[in-house]
Amino acid sequence: MEGDEMKAQTIEEKQYLVRFKADKQSHLTVLDHDICQTKCKEKYCTLFCPGEVYKWEGTRMHVGYEGCHECGSCRIGCPYQNIKWEYPKGGHGVVFRLG
Ligand code: SF4
Ligand code: SF4
Repeated sequence: MEGDEMKAQTIEEKQYLVRFKADKQSHLTVLDHDICQTKCKEKYCTLFCPGEVYKWEGTRMHVGYEGCHECGSCRIGCPYQNIKWEYPKGGHGVVFRLG
C-alpha cells in the first residue's frame, strides 16, 4: 500500500467526518442537578463523553446535546443513573460522512 494512503488521520480530520443535524429539543436530560453538585465530585460525564457535551457550570450541568455522537456511554457511565438518554428523533442527530 502507498505511504500516503497509510497516513494516520488526526483527531481533527476524523472529527471532520462527523456532522450533526441538531433537533431543537434535547434528547439528553440531566435529571437532578443536585446529585451532580452534591454527590458526584468527579463529574464523570465531563470525562467520558467524547463529544464534550457536558460542562459543569458551578451549580448545574450544561448539556450541549447538539454535539452528541450517540455513543451511548452516558447511559452506563453515570454512576447515579442521572442522565436520561434517548435516540434523537428520526432525521436528526449525528451523520457520518464516509467514502
Ligand atoms: S456523571 Fe452523572 S451524577 Fe455525575 S455529574 Fe455527570 S450527570 Fe451528574
Ligand atoms: S451518547 Fe456519548 S457523545 Fe452523546 S452525550 Fe452520551 S457520552 Fe456524550
